[in-house]
Amino acid sequence: MIEASGIRRIFDLAANLKDPVNLSIGQPDFDVPAALKDKAAEAMRLGKNAYTQTQGGPELRAALLDGPLAGYADEQILVTGAVSGGLLLAYMALLDPGDEILLPDPYFVMYKQLALMFDARPVFYDTYPDWKPDPAKIEALITPRTKALLIDSPSNPTGAVYTREELSGIAGILDRHNLIAISDEIYESFCYDAPFVSLRSVARDRTLCLGGFSKSHAMTGWRVGWAAGPAEVVQAMTKLQQFSFVCAPTPFQSAAAAAVAYGMEEHMAAYGRKRDLMYAGLIDAGYQLTRPAGAFYAFPEVPWGSGAEFVAECVKNNLLCIPGNCFSERDTHFRLVFAAKDETIERGVEILRRLKPGK
Ligand code: PLP
Repeated sequence: MIEASGIRRIFDLAANLKDPVNLSIGQPDFDVPAALKDKAAEAMRLGKNAYTQTQGGPELRAALLDGPLAGYADEQILVTGAVSGGLLLAYMALLDPGDEILLPDPYFVMYKQLALMFDARPVFYDTYPDWKPDPAKIEALITPRTKALLIDSPSNPTGAVYTREELSGIAGILDRHNLIAISDEIYESFCYDAPFVSLRSVARDRTLCLGGFSKSHAMTGWRVGWAAGPAEVVQAMTKLQQFSFVCAPTPFQSAAAAAVAYGMEEHMAAYGRKRDLMYAGLIDAGYQLTRPAGAFYAFPEVPWGSGAEFVAECVKNNLLCIPGNCFSERDTHFRLVFAAKDETIERGVEILRRLKPGK
């Protein structure tokens, strides 16, 4: 059965709080750059308001093929209704009822629920405690029903970023078992310690990459993303898009075309500093956690009780965060977002310090 989002439950719990310290929302705290808003408004004024082709309008497709997707053939890319749209189409294209998909645990909530929605079986490869994939553990889970393996680096909720060596380990599994990977690269630009490496750089023919503009350019409400990978998979997704999303929003595709080359480095550098601020504060307060290398999440261990119990106490103390069981088959951790004002991060850490016995 598909489960309602536990994250929404926290929002409901929080509805009565006055001025909560909110470290629960998985979206940037900056706004879309003015120049890109102007592009969207201009597109509307120029009458770019009708459907585009199912595979995406020529402007955005050209920008992608000239930029991050250089080297892909035209039939290997698709403009999607953001990454959620890409994930939905990918699951539909790749999985039949009873098929298995290998998912990381902890995972982004949608990965599990989409599998359930299509009567596929989510099979979890555990990345506790350092959030890194262990090829031997993954390989042991493969059965004749395994159809796909999903990775998200940088990861929501852990902030882990996989190295080229770790990705090569995954590429070996794909080759040995003739599998395809879905690589969710939505947090690609949020890498703080080393440049991002895509699975496609080591397993090009076996990787369906999903990316988009929701997080990098704060366009969460604009719903534009892309998929790139093996032509037969992308063509199957395109056909399914004809009967579902039809196309991504036209004026926002125009703005996304401009976003492809629009640098967000200052914001990324600021988020690197926010990562440092939160990590140092949590370590000083006595929390156990792996330092996030990307995205904008930290996933510390709870100091007592279960994730749900500890987060209930956080909410009572005016701090909003999400229990680990929303992202995992376990309930031993909690998720904090550092896409927030420095002052909010500092207030959150102060509350957490008070909730930690012995501090
Ligand atoms: N993938 C991950 C890992 C996410 O964290 C999110 C949003 O939180 C999405 C996909 C969905 O993003 P979009 O807004 O592009 O649909």
